[in-house]
This record gives sequence, C-alpha cells and structure tokens, in this order.
Amino acid sequence: MTYDLVIRNGLVIDGAGGEPFRADIAIEGDRIAAIGAVSGEGHEEIDAAGRIVTPGFVDIHTHYDGQAIWSERLNPSSSHGVTTVVMGNCGVGFAPCRPADHQTLIDVMEGVEDIPGIVMAEGLDWSWETFPEYLDALEARRRDIDVAAFLGHAPLRVYVMGQRGIDREPATAADLAEMRRLTREAVEAGALGVASSRIFVHRMKDGGGTSPAQTRRRKSCGGSRLAWPTRMPASSRWCSTSPVCPGARRWIASSTWPRVPAGPSRSASARPMRGRRSGRRRWR
Ligand SMILES: [Zn+2]
Repeated sequence: MTYDLVIRNGLVIDGAGGEPFRADIAIEGDRIAAIGAVSGEGHEEIDAAGRIVTPGFVDIHTHYDGQAIWSERLNPSSSHGVTTVVMGNCGVGFAPCRPADHQTLIDVMEGVEDIPGIVMAEGLDWSWETFPEYLDALEARRRDIDVAAFLGHAPLRVYVMGQRGIDREPATAADLAEMRRLTREAVEAGALGVASSRIFVHRMKDGGGTSPAQTRRRKSCGGSRLAWPTRMPASSRWCSTSPVCPGARRWIASSTWPRVPAGPSRSASARPMRGRRSGRRRWR
C-alpha cells in the first residue's frame, strides 16, 4: 500500500489523555489511514525520530483579527503547532464598523490588547463594514492555519450606538434590539458567537482628549486611561445579547472575566464571579 504521506518514528501524543507512544502515521488524502507500524510507503515520508507528533492545537483565545486580514502567516501561533485560532475575544475586533469609527476600534484594540495602532492603521484595508463582509474579507485570503471569529461586543456597540456607545451611555431598547439583530446576522453568516469582557484593566488608548465625556470616562477608570465602550454598560450583561439566535445552530458566548481575590473582603457584587477567571457558556 502506498500512502500520500507517512510520518515515521515519532512520539505520538494524540490528545486523548493516554501515555505517549511511538508510532508511524500514514495519511491518505485528508484522513489518517493508519497509526502504528506502517509497512507501506508514502509518496512523501517524514522521519520524526526524536520529535513529538500531535494533532494541531486550537487556540481559543487570540487577537489575530487584524493580522488575518493583512498576512498569510499567523505567526507566532502557526510556528508553534497551532492549526486553528479563534479571534474576536475580549469583545474587540474590527466589524461591524463604519468608516468614521475606524480609528475608534483601532484605539480600542491598542488599549485593550497592546497592539501598536500604527500597525493596524497601515495594515487594515477596511474593505468591509458589516460582520458578514468582514468574514468575506477573511475568506478571500489563504492562510497557513484556519481562523474562526467571534463578533466583538465593542464594535457591535459602537456600530449601533455611535458616540453614545463610546461614551458608555446605557443602551436603549431599540439599541438592544438592533444589537440582537446584528448578532443573529453575524452568527448566521458564520461567526462562532459573540464575545465581551468585564476585565477592569481593559481600557482604550487615551488620545488625550479633554471633552466632558472623556473626562468622565477617565475618572471612572481612576483617572488613568479612558474606559472602553463595553466597560460595565447595562448592555454588557449577557442577558441582553444572548437570546438572539432563535433557529440558529449552536453558538458560543465568550466572556473574559476578572480574577476575583479570595478572602473575606470580597464584596457582595463580586460574589457571582467567585472562582471564575474566564467563562465560556454555550447556548443552543
Ligand atoms: Zn483577549
């Protein structure tokens, strides 16, 4: 028997929880055809002696939202054995977005994830406005690994509420209805789900503005940097965005939560977060 590819002599760690074992792996097409002592030859053979052979890793929390637009290579993840990355975590991202808000979402990403703004300003071509169009832009480029994307709460809120969203005003019933509609649209187009964050250190890049709203946002963060659009507005509660996909297939809501210190001084408001550093919930 001749296979497309045979990887020989590697130490296999298959991810099932068992002990590592030494084996050859034969691959035919896009399927593993045999694991063990493979007698057939491969059109291509790799000697993995002294190396570990594993399934590709899925990194469920990344921020390649920009890099996936301008690069075929998602380094460093793709160099470390990751074969799928999930982006849009922490509720940041670049869609949906109107042209007037490009810089706002760059400032959010720079402040929250410490990605230099100049890199995003140079690299993003903004060939999309809606989330489905952003998925089309991702689809248009081949990459060294696969990507999946959450719809970020911050771009969603800014898209629907504009400056009111940036200034963290409460969402109206009409705002929430529109956010639900857009979330449903994104999930039906292929979004993995929707993501947000309640971590206090997540803040926006501070451009130094001194408007009353900016001063208020700075004060609400202890005077250091601007609070970002989704920091504790009423609409950041999952109850406002979760029941949005009637009829949609299974989807995921991802929320990045603050670590809550142990001990008797924990405040009543923090109790619901006990023991949770990050949470992922799944709805049908
Ligand atoms: Zn994150």
